[in-house]
Amino acid sequence: MNELDFERFLKNKFSFTRGQGIGDDASVIYSEGTQQLITTDLLIENVHFRLRDIEMKELALKAIAVNLSDIAAMGGIPHYFYLGLGFPKNLGIKELKQFFQGLKNGCQQWNLELAGGDFSKSSQLCISVTMVGEAEHPVYRQNAKDGDLIGITGQTGASALGLKLLLSGKSIKPWSTRHQKVVPCLQEGQILAKYANSMIDVSDGLVIDLKRILAASGKGGHLYYENLLIPRAMKRICREYHLNEYELVLSGGEDYVLLFTISPENELQLRQEKISYRVIGEIQSKQDQLTITHNGKTIQTENNGYDHFNMKS
Ligand SMILES: [Mg+2]
Repeated sequence: MNELDFERFLKNKFSFTRGQGIGDDASVIYSEGTQQLITTDLLIENVHFRLRDIEMKELALKAIAVNLSDIAAMGGIPHYFYLGLGFPKNLGIKELKQFFQGLKNGCQQWNLELAGGDFSKSSQLCISVTMVGEAEHPVYRQNAKDGDLIGITGQTGASALGLKLLLSGKSIKPWSTRHQKVVPCLQEGQILAKYANSMIDVSDGLVIDLKRILAASGKGGHLYYENLLIPRAMKRICREYHLNEYELVLSGGEDYVLLFTISPENELQLRQEKISYRVIGEIQSKQDQLTITHNGKTIQTENNGYDHFNMKS
């Protein structure tokens, strides 16, 4: 069962009548005069992070930031959050205080409030943040149109490169920092909400997240690898450590940039806004078919990205 199958299974089993439920970066609740966004994310020790690679303060910031990225992907503004914390015995009051200091810093940085939560002892550190926000015009994954351009607000692969290096015992800046520190594209999301037809944040990998837009919209697409931003320093370090650049850039994940589709007319308008992005492809009508080329040559990708539901049926 993969993530799409699991999503379909849940949607069939649980209907949602108060707005748009399962299947996007955040659910959208219709209430009087506004559209509320709610999203939740889980970070588990040794699945999403190792304690030796990240400080408690940074971890708390990351737990907030990954949720903010989902709010950004809907074109929304975040307001407050809930925290579920499973805390292991091998960590003490010092670490707990550091964690909450990080959380406090996040509240100040992004103008957020902590609304409540729950705490439990646990065998590993588990952090669950539920973020609440709102959007005037939420941008969904399902509205990509034929002829839309595919755009991206930044680079992919840097975080995965940082992680690969950390896992092999090397902390090399800026790559390790790119993995530890998530910068959610909140302002970009709010600008894009005025122009984009569909949007997602790149959390699990460029290809898998683009495929999520294609699947939700019933479309296909063409991605031009040469249009992606890949700094020379990154190419050099990939060569030096024998790492597969294609795999990092296309499937690495945890980039937290915004991937969107936009009509060519609206893209002309977007050029007038204060936002940096690149056009990296276009939407085509062939359902679910994604072609990736590099200077005209087709690239085959075996590994699409991180699918948490990759399990036996
Ligand atoms: Mg997301």
